[in-house]
Order: sequence, then structure tokens, then C-alpha cells
Amino acid sequence: MSVTKLPEYDFDIIIIGGGPAGYTAGLYTARAGLKTLLLEGTATVSQITTTDLIENYPGVPDGINGFDLIQLFKKQALKFGLETINDDVSSVSKSDSGSALWVVRTGKKSYRTLGLIAATGAQWRKLGVPGETEFAGKGVSYCATCDGPFYRNRDVVVIGGGDSAIQESLFLTHFAQKVTVVHRRDRLRANGMLQRRAFAEKKIEFAWNAKLDEVVGGDFVTGVKIKDVISGKQKEIPADGVFIFVGRLPNTGLFRNVLKLDKDGYIITDDSMNSSVAGIFAAGDCRAKIFRQVVTAAGDGANAAFSAELYLANLKDETY
Ligand code: NAP
Repeated sequence: MSVTKLPEYDFDIIIIGGGPAGYTAGLYTARAGLKTLLLEGTATVSQITTTDLIENYPGVPDGINGFDLIQLFKKQALKFGLETINDDVSSVSKSDSGSALWVVRTGKKSYRTLGLIAATGAQWRKLGVPGETEFAGKGVSYCATCDGPFYRNRDVVVIGGGDSAIQESLFLTHFAQKVTVVHRRDRLRANGMLQRRAFAEKKIEFAWNAKLDEVVGGDFVTGVKIKDVISGKQKEIPADGVFIFVGRLPNTGLFRNVLKLDKDGYIITDDSMNSSVAGIFAAGDCRAKIFRQVVTAAGDGANAAFSAELYLANLKDETY
């Protein structure tokens, strides 16, 4: 480390992102006595807030709504002095080359920090088919928890075959009279338990080997055109709602020219959540890894906080 004099700074640690990874990191750094600010975006919400039921977070045997769980994370971190602000970060950069200081800018302010934890998460992937954007909020949705109750006794279509698509399809059966899952292959990607539940659910039907060509409607969605990928034949399924769950994209645009990202845009870290750049750590769904769950995001957050704490201790030891 070439730094000899510690520059003026506002925070020991700034965490960007208000999901399970961010709030866990904040709990650990604040509790360790580090002056920590968590910046939570206004434009994108953490995916956890739109998850109806989380039944695999340890210690919560009856399951819990995602919004309620993250409120508990937040309450616990605030108790130890974490500061939070709702503002969208526009850039992250070094204050000067060779400096240990990072500058985090939002539309309103800029903050100087010694360490940074990226916990920016990911968002739903769009398919880009005709009608998807036009009918967003008019029948096209990416959140069954938010919009499911609008489809009581109606027919809906779900696109995708992963855990999200199947879990949300099951949730939608609480309201809809029929849920048609349109999947591009003849087998689901979702885990066995979700598959068993979905196959046993009378309200769920499957359109196998089919892709969404178009969302159709007038003022609101009236159906979808799907194509059989084997025969090439197109057909229309009448539906009042279309829920699209075809994977996620990382919210890592801020770090594109700052950190090493993998080919899909996820932040590359080592096992201790160190990114490719000293002083920046990454945790949760924005990080390149295989398993993205609330519990793994929380684990990442704790690890990132611990690594940041070690980094700051060394930095402060080596400066005056
Ligand atoms: P995912 O596992 O990546 O699944 C995406 C699904 O969308 C796949 O079935 C995929 O088809 C399909 N798909 C992707 N691109 C498509 C396209 N262009 N056209 C049509 N279909 C397309 O995403 P996810 O379901 O959101 O899950 C993400 C992660 O969160 C996973 O690790 C998952 O285990 C986790 N998760 C866990 C739970 C839980 O444990 N309860 C709940 C939700 C999510 P193919 O199968 O053909 O690739």
C-alpha cells in the first residue's frame, strides 16, 4: 500500500444496495464499529421485496413474506448504528489515482469512503417480444406477489421453467382459475419439490417446447401468441395476465469500468468477497456465483463485511 497519510473521508464503508446482502453487510460493519452508510436505490427495489413466501430461510419454520423479512434485516442493522439513505448512485470512482479514497456520487451528493461493498443485486430479464413493453402494467408483469391478486378467477400465462416461474405459478393459483406455464423445453429447470407441487396442482397446465412470440390485446392484455419450437406452428392462448420469469440480469452497470465482471456482467470475487480492486467488495446476487438465495446473499454480506473490516484495519495501520 503506497498511501502514507489517510485522507479526509465521510464513511469507513459505503454499501450500495438494500437487499439481504447489503443489510447483512451493514449489520456486521456497523456492529464492528465502522461508520457505515447504506445507499438504497429508488429506481430498483430488491428482489426480496417482491417475493411472496420465503420458506427456506433458516430459523423461520413457518416461512415469511420477503418484504417483512428485509424489514427485519434493516431493523437489526439500524439498531447497531447503520445509516441509510434512499438515493440512486450515479458513479463510483477513485478520488485520485493512488489514493485509498473512493467517491460515490448520487444525483444529490457525493460521499468519500475508504471501503465499498457492492450489493446491487439483479433484476428480471425481459424477453423483448412485441407487446411486452406496450402491455407492461396492463397485463404484463414480473411480480406475482404484486399483481397476482388482480387476476382472481382469470386466466394467466407464466413464461419460464425455473424456480421463479414455478414458485410464482403456484402462488398465482391462489387467485387465477388457470395458470398456463409456457416453457421452451420439455423439462422444467425448477427444483424437484416445486416440480412435484406444480404437477399436482390442477389449476396449472403446461405448454411444452413453446416460446412466446407476442403479447396481444387492446387496452389490456387479452392473450399471447406462442410458437411450438418443434413444429413451428403458432397458436394463441387467451389470457388476462402474462408473468415473465426467464432469469435475471445483474445490476452492475456502475462497476463496468471499475471492476472485473464475468461474461454475463456479474462481479468476479474471491471466496472472501474481494473484487478485482482493493477496497471494493461484492456480495449477493450481483456477484458471479452459482447459487443465489437469501441465505447465500446474507452469507456473502457477512463475509464482505469481515473482509472490509480487515482491509480497513490494515489501511489504518499503514497510515497516520
Ligand atoms: P433461472 O434458473 O435462470 O431460470 C430461467 C428460466 O427461464 C429457465 O427455465 C429458462 O429456460 C427460461 N428462459 C431463459 N431465457 C429464456 C428465453 N429467452 N425464452 C424463454 N425462456 C427462457 O432463473 P430463476 O428461475 O429466476 O432463478 C434464478 C435463481 O434464483 C436460481 O438459482 C434459483 O434456484 C433461485 N431461486 C430459488 C427459489 C427457491 O429456492 N424457492 C425461488 C426463486 C429463485 P431453460 O430451462 O431452457 O434454460
